[in-house]
Amino acid sequence: MAFSSESYRDTWVEINTENIKYNIREVRKLHAEDVAVMAVVKADGYGHGAAATAVAAAEAGASYFGVALLEEALELREAGIDLPILVLGRTRPQDAPVAARHDIRLTVFQEEWLKEASRYTAGDPLLIHMKVDTGMGRLGLINDEEIISFLNAVTRIPSIEMEGMYTHFATADELETTYFEQQYARFSRVVALVQQMGNAPQLIHCGNSAAAMRFPERCFNMVRFGISMYGLTPAADITGHLPFTLKEAFTLHSRLTQVKEVPPGTSISYGATYTSTGNEWIGTVPIGYADGWLRAHADNQGEVLAGGYRVPIVGRICMDQMMVRLPHEFPVDTAVTLIGSQKEETISVTEVASRLGTITYEVPCTISKRVPRVYTPENRFEP
Ligand SMILES: *Cc1c(COP(=O)(O)O)cnc(C)c1O
Repeated sequence: MAFSSESYRDTWVEINTENIKYNIREVRKLHAEDVAVMAVVKADGYGHGAAATAVAAAEAGASYFGVALLEEALELREAGIDLPILVLGRTRPQDAPVAARHDIRLTVFQEEWLKEASRYTAGDPLLIHMKVDTGMGRLGLINDEEIISFLNAVTRIPSIEMEGMYTHFATADELETTYFEQQYARFSRVVALVQQMGNAPQLIHCGNSAAAMRFPERCFNMVRFGISMYGLTPAADITGHLPFTLKEAFTLHSRLTQVKEVPPGTSISYGATYTSTGNEWIGTVPIGYADGWLRAHADNQGEVLAGGYRVPIVGRICMDQMMVRLPHEFPVDTAVTLIGSQKEETISVTEVASRLGTITYEVPCTISKRVPRVYTPENRFEP
């Protein structure tokens, strides 16, 4: 029985779709017109919502989508998205017919896989992208003999067509480029080998966000633009070296559910680890670690915005709630911004990532499905 999908809670994520479009348009400008932009929307659009961000990306010029799993590709098809989609992870060979039926491209790098899949794919043709491991050490064919043998096997199977080939960089987001150059050189040699064999596929790609922005001349004819389509830097070190200023799309908000003045010596939250030193105004915020707002925020002196001020989180973060210390009394329902702006103050995803000692990628991905996502074409939120 389906109940309404209305949200009844005052904690929500706001996604600025105009900023997503801006980031896509900016990366488009760095590349020739015949270079396709694949919008990578795996992991539910890095926590931003896959279908809604895919639509925004397509409106801004993305013409291809990347996901990690076949499920994620099917979700886009169910949402009515009919542009090409590539599954970047390994799909089981017995699931190839599902991909073929829904016109979903698969990543393949095992000759054995081709043989297995050919037993199933009798109906619709299956389009594949051959993955080459040039130094990431994760997925892909490694040496020339393997690659030649793989290409010969593809040629023998009429129901499988190689639409693309690609590799993935391990260090495109680092200032030191020696390893990146080695991977690029290796991939270029493999591309030449494939061309010599007369098997050159239509799409050749290697650039993730970092490479697409920093090395546009090394991206062949498609880029796989993930983290930066959401306005997030691939790595803090290279932010100042990017050719345009990214605009973050993800903001996180809530509202105070209780505000009280406590006398000195009052302890707050589990373990009574925080105790007020004077009369203090304490606000309760209905977000906790079950929402992906991890306890580590409090352990690392996390702050949020309320009434335009930066206010500290006090005491341990609970499963569904946490407390903050306010500079003075605020009304119940006052907006709290955990990520985003209020008046002159901004707490960016980048700041939150550095607070947690992690990368930008983890922050929106970690905010759980329990927090509803709201889509707006501009920063509609006014505290
Ligand atoms: C996730 C992923 C990308 C996108 O990387 P970003 O750094 O987010 O741009 C590209 N290619 C592959 C194979 C991936 O798994």
